[in-house]
Amino acid sequence: MKTNTCPKCGHTYQGYPALSRVDNRTKICPDCGIREAMEDAGIGSWTRREIMTRMITVSSHTQTSDIELKRFLRVLRLAAW
Ligand SMILES: [Zn+2]
Repeated sequence: MKTNTCPKCGHTYQGYPALSRVDNRTKICPDCGIREAMEDAGIGSWTRREIMTRMITVSSHTQTSDIELKRFLRVLRLAAW
C-alpha cells in the first residue's frame, strides 16, 4: 500500500487521504481531516480533547486494534496544540 506524507502534520499515513477544508485541494491525513472538520464545526481545543479522550475510553472497552488506538492517541496529541 502506498505511503503518503501529510503536509499539515508531517506524519506518514496509508490509505485514502482527507481533503483539506482550507483550500479543498490539499490531501492531508485522515487525522488532520478530523481535526479540520472539528475546527470547522467550531469545536474548541478543550472540547476536542474531551471528545478524543472519550473516544479512547470507549475504544479501550471494545475490541480495538493497536493501530486504531495509536491513531486515536495521535489525534489526541494533535488536538492538544
Ligand atoms: Zn496530518
